[in-house]
Amino acid sequence: MLETTIAGSLPKPSWLAEPKKLWPAWRLEADALAEGKRDATLLALKIQEDCGIDIVSDGEQSRQHFVHGFLEGVDGIDFARRVPMGIRNNRYEAMVPTVTGPLRRKGPVHAAEARIARAHTARRLKFTLPGPMTIIDTIADSYYGDRVAMAMAFAEVLNEEARELAAIGVDVIQFDEPAFNVYLDEVTGWGIAALHRAIGGLSCKTAIHICYGYGIPANIEWKATLGHEWRQYERIFPALAASHIDQVSLECAHSHVPVELLSLLHGKDVLVGAIDVASDKAETPEEVAATIEDALRFVPPERLYPCTNCGMAPLDRTLAEQKLAALTAGAALVRGRR
Ligand code: ZN
Repeated sequence: MLETTIAGSLPKPSWLAEPKKLWPAWRLEADALAEGKRDATLLALKIQEDCGIDIVSDGEQSRQHFVHGFLEGVDGIDFARRVPMGIRNNRYEAMVPTVTGPLRRKGPVHAAEARIARAHTARRLKFTLPGPMTIIDTIADSYYGDRVAMAMAFAEVLNEEARELAAIGVDVIQFDEPAFNVYLDEVTGWGIAALHRAIGGLSCKTAIHICYGYGIPANIEWKATLGHEWRQYERIFPALAASHIDQVSLECAHSHVPVELLSLLHGKDVLVGAIDVASDKAETPEEVAATIEDALRFVPPERLYPCTNCGMAPLDRTLAEQKLAALTAGAALVRGRR
């Protein structure tokens, strides 16, 4: 009951990449970089185990960014043809690469780090991939001419990768879809269908992560415009409850999401974000326990997994460890009271 897990990413060691950056430059090259990624993956597992996390991840130590880390392994994308694009409904502008041909994997994208992680932990292992809607919101197109068709093509590519990760022994595959919180009509229109294509034939557990973004200034400003109550989830949860996805990972700590919306996810495992990744102060176990107990009013305990709000990639490393320790201590407090 109340097994802990994380949304996905952890800070990288400063010998591997620039610290506290969402899109850090690597500090190693060629073989040394491959070796560094391997070592950092082991370290990420060890830190999670020491902090008592039950379902661990590779900490995304081998990718520069949660979307582009995957895209680098896909053919049909011209990274030299970068164009400015307003993403997440123009919340921020980014220089994004362009799809110029049919999408297919160059080969296994994340198999190496998944194998290393699988070989070095006995705990259940979760692996994250970007979701189709979030990918097409982060890339330009000069080939498909239809964004939904492009999303479905990405879903096929993701499915091939996901099946391979499951065969390596990954227990949970999570698709990160922050775009689900922005394009609410598209979620029911085609977002869930694309997700179903991405999880087709998977024998492991499947999850989707939807949040209000990393703690970067553009997101903090956006959140300030969302009003007193954040009801975005209300529009998409019924469709998710009816979907084939097993688990839904959400932002709950310090958010203005009315907690009763969680009852709309009836029948799903709910990964309750009880750690704020936008604050530079570690939660106390009591604060974590309060978030979990609040959620327990609407989610049965066997379906509730205390988690982080979002990825921790841009955080200070020591702070991230303190937050992980607070997460497990908070979950233990709640368990002890029941
Ligand atoms: Zn997130």
